[in-house]
Amino acid sequence: MALDRSTIWPYRDGEPGEHYYQRNSHPNGVAAERALGELEGGEALLFPSGTGAATAVVLALLEPGQTIALAEGAYYGTAVLFSTLERWGVRYIEFDQTGPPPEDADLIWLEAPSNPFLTMPNLDAAVASPARVLVDSTASTPVYLRPLEQGADFALHSATKYLGGHDDVLLGAVACRSQEDTARLREFRGKTGIVAAPDPCWLLARSLRTLEVRMERHTAHAQELVERLRAHPAVELVRYPGFGGLLSFDVADAEAARKVETSLRTIKNATSLGGVESVLESRSRWEGDRVPPGLLRLSVGLEDVDELWADLEQALA
Ligand code: PLP
Repeated sequence: MALDRSTIWPYRDGEPGEHYYQRNSHPNGVAAERALGELEGGEALLFPSGTGAATAVVLALLEPGQTIALAEGAYYGTAVLFSTLERWGVRYIEFDQTGPPPEDADLIWLEAPSNPFLTMPNLDAAVASPARVLVDSTASTPVYLRPLEQGADFALHSATKYLGGHDDVLLGAVACRSQEDTARLREFRGKTGIVAAPDPCWLLARSLRTLEVRMERHTAHAQELVERLRAHPAVELVRYPGFGGLLSFDVADAEAARKVETSLRTIKNATSLGGVESVLESRSRWEGDRVPPGLLRLSVGLEDVDELWADLEQALA
């Protein structure tokens, strides 16, 4: 579909048509949402970032006094967001997502796999509880996990990562199982103006067409590098769930991690994940004591895998 940047569309016979004002809906947004909804098996809504999507879920679907049970070790920005929203009366507690969720939660917030610890949630235990369940499946993508089919109420993405896939799109998405939740979120989005623009939506629709082949290649390369990293004497621990392109590994300390960061030639020393180009960074720079000082997060791209290994090997030497 062509890119349409219009903010207004003329009424027909004096009445608004499907699209009339961009804050309410626009063709490129609807097209990208349809494509993602089909992949997730639900109804998808786009937001200007993953964090914007998370903000919309909390503010649109929870009440002051309610509690979110957040997976321990999930993307650190999610806890930062929830503590920012505590001023509005929404509480959050953290729990080990590999076990059963706490009983007093209204919304269980899982991450599959968690970033950067790469644990997978016990989704069966979560959906057995009376609380509603959201899975941030940014690093799995619908190629490896379709949370709605397993009983979750929401699948959330930072579409900035694998769905966009090229480090040139900032977007978020929520796929809902129920039409009622979709309607509430859509209404909240239009009223608050937390709206994704046409350009990133167009890029997302284009990127989704290659999602499956990209994910297969990310996985093949990551599996290969995990094996080699596990056998390397300077690497103390490798975390990897067995699929996808995201992994983390520990070197001895902060100094050793800095040396790897500054010695890389092919792999970019940069933040984020999910793009066609590999990026690596020490996470303690952002997350402090929450992560080991030698933890390096690697998002494995689509470059030649032997070239990636040669780069890692010389940086670890
Ligand atoms: N969820 C996960 C798992 C992430 O890794 C990130 C960003 O790194 C986010 C959510 C937030 O997404 P965004 O940066 O698009 O706001």
